[in-house]
Amino acid sequence: MGEQVKFLPRAQLLTLEELELVGRIFVELGVTKIRLTGGEPLVRTNVLQLFQKLGQLTGLKELLLTTNGVLLDKLAKPLVEAGVKRVNISLDSLRPERFAAITRNGKLSEVLRGIEAALDAGFQGIKLNTVILKHRNHDEIIDLVDFAVARGIEISFIEEMPIGNIGDHDRAEVYYSSDEIRRDIEQAFTLLPSARNTGGPARYFQIVGTSSFVGFISPHSHNFCDTCNRVRLTTEGRLLLCLGQENSIDLRRVIRAHPGETEPLKHAITQAMLMKPKGHDFDLTQESQVLRYMNITGG
Ligand code: SF4
Repeated sequence: MGEQVKFLPRAQLLTLEELELVGRIFVELGVTKIRLTGGEPLVRTNVLQLFQKLGQLTGLKELLLTTNGVLLDKLAKPLVEAGVKRVNISLDSLRPERFAAITRNGKLSEVLRGIEAALDAGFQGIKLNTVILKHRNHDEIIDLVDFAVARGIEISFIEEMPIGNIGDHDRAEVYYSSDEIRRDIEQAFTLLPSARNTGGPARYFQIVGTSSFVGFISPHSHNFCDTCNRVRLTTEGRLLLCLGQENSIDLRRVIRAHPGETEPLKHAITQAMLMKPKGHDFDLTQESQVLRYMNITGG
């Protein structure tokens, strides 16, 4: 079955102006880092305008992007010009058939072209995001690290998060922990723990003898909720306080009930922070408690 893609009526989506407004208010409230993720953020019509607007916000130190890379060959340069500092590109396989199977008909060649365009565009940082599943792609770990090292970029291995009932694999059965991935990498590379910190949940290791780092995002084996300061806004305007819980408030209702006003929005956001959960209750042996799919919120 896999993740379901549901296209929403336009009226239900925040407009680019409303998305920019929410971004501006968060920055006025002290936020210094905004990452646009998806589904796939670059498919949104005129999305470059949003990046340009957010990129001009005083107080925003980091404007970041997570993408499937397919549209990077066209948009990499204008995104850098708009102020995007670092880009994460999802890449779970280097084998075209397997890539197509994992991404439901995605074309690996398009993503590889996007990665080359990102390398040429001058981003301050490029990182591959890879979800490893046993018997699905765990035999490609070294190839993926080789790919990153050959390009002088980073790679993060992410333990799958039980978000949405996907039905095409038993999560507990295919779970492949960060420690197992690290053990496999150390068959071919020497890893040195690094103090590197991008403000995200990854634990980094320098790949000795290269300019590359490998990161591990380990919601199951090395929980990182106690340092979490992340919230997510969906395209419908739902402010999710935690990826692993359903606590949220409807900012679209606030924006449209008070057109042109910012105080009600500021109040709603600061109130919402009071109900941010302490962490997730992920349990790979159970059906997912979080029914929305990852492509609704992004990582
Ligand atoms: S699961 Fe929730 S609390 Fe934990 S890191 Fe993710 S968003 Fe933060």
